[in-house]
Amino acid sequence: MSETFRAILVSRNEDKTQAVRVEEMSEADLMEGDVTVAVEATTVNYKDGLAITGKAPVIRRFPLIPGIDFAGTVLSSGHARWKEGDKVVLNGWGVGETHYGAFAGRARVSGDWLVPLPGTMTPLDAMAIGTAGYTAMLCVMALERHGISPDRGPVVVTGAAGGVGSVAVSILSRLGYHVVASTGRTSEEAYLKELGAAEIIDRDELSGPARPLGKERWAGGVDAVGSHTLANVLSMTSYGGAVAACGLAQGMDLPSSVAPFILRGVSLLGIDSVMAPLGLREEAWRRLSDDLDRNKLSALSTMIGFDGIIEAAKAIVEGRIRGRVVVDMS
Ligand code: NDP
Repeated sequence: MSETFRAILVSRNEDKTQAVRVEEMSEADLMEGDVTVAVEATTVNYKDGLAITGKAPVIRRFPLIPGIDFAGTVLSSGHARWKEGDKVVLNGWGVGETHYGAFAGRARVSGDWLVPLPGTMTPLDAMAIGTAGYTAMLCVMALERHGISPDRGPVVVTGAAGGVGSVAVSILSRLGYHVVASTGRTSEEAYLKELGAAEIIDRDELSGPARPLGKERWAGGVDAVGSHTLANVLSMTSYGGAVAACGLAQGMDLPSSVAPFILRGVSLLGIDSVMAPLGLREEAWRRLSDDLDRNKLSALSTMIGFDGIIEAAKAIVEGRIRGRVVVDMS
């Protein structure tokens, strides 16, 4: 019980700047919860990058251990669904924002926030997917619920070389969609084709002001970018199509018009992974274990250790990271 572990702790200075340091902690230092987990793997998401660099107000209580995703083994549980030794995954629920997060050897959380690690996956596999991949799956499930099947036409993925984008490209191509990958890194063309993209377009084609309606180019899309990019994606979506919007890498604004909605019956599907209900999460993780090519997972991931987290957080907000960063906590 007195065993200690390392944790990244972000605190706030008097001048409101942030300080980030590595601390030795014990379980007694953790926040409330009915399940304690040995964190075996985690990942660095864009949001974690924002949290650690302080570039956006992700952290809403100080001091805080950041890290919104982890996979590991239950050490102790007072929750009916979990017992010692269970393998679990956690994404979101305010962990790494208001509740101590994943960048520590141990986490104590509510058992209601955990989903079972699919039997076919290791903790590192699950973190190669992470919130980014699970959000990509939620986007694909939303398109499916809207009837956007592969025979309806191409689908576009924006921010394709990023975490959400690269998993979305991989899942959609595995499901038989013709995937148009939009990226600013055309040097990543071979990588995106390897993931299953049928066509690559330069993101500059989508990043300027959108016309109310453009040429119909795709039946749907997964958008991780927002702003002008989402406006262009919508204006180029064919009649009755749908776009799942989950990100804001270009901006939080949406300089669009109602034209795609009222003249082409296009739908905008909002995707939130943080508070998504348990049933949807369990379905997403089940689907990820079936619909994501495991061999492609390794091509998507860069492996680092605990000591690399802070540097990776800086790199991701500067757009220097391709695909997913997986942290081996062992
Ligand atoms: P990454 O940083 O890995 O990927 C973002 C990608 O967006 C980049 O790789 C780049 O793709 C593209 N991009 C970056 N800046 C710009 C720009 N100025 N204009 C156009 N494209 C740009 O982040 P993630 O994939 O982890 O997350 C993507 C987005 O989704 C983020 O905004 C994140 O906050 C959000 N998100 C939302 C969730 C939710 O629950 N709704 C959950 C998870 C993430 P390329 O290099 O190919 O051009």
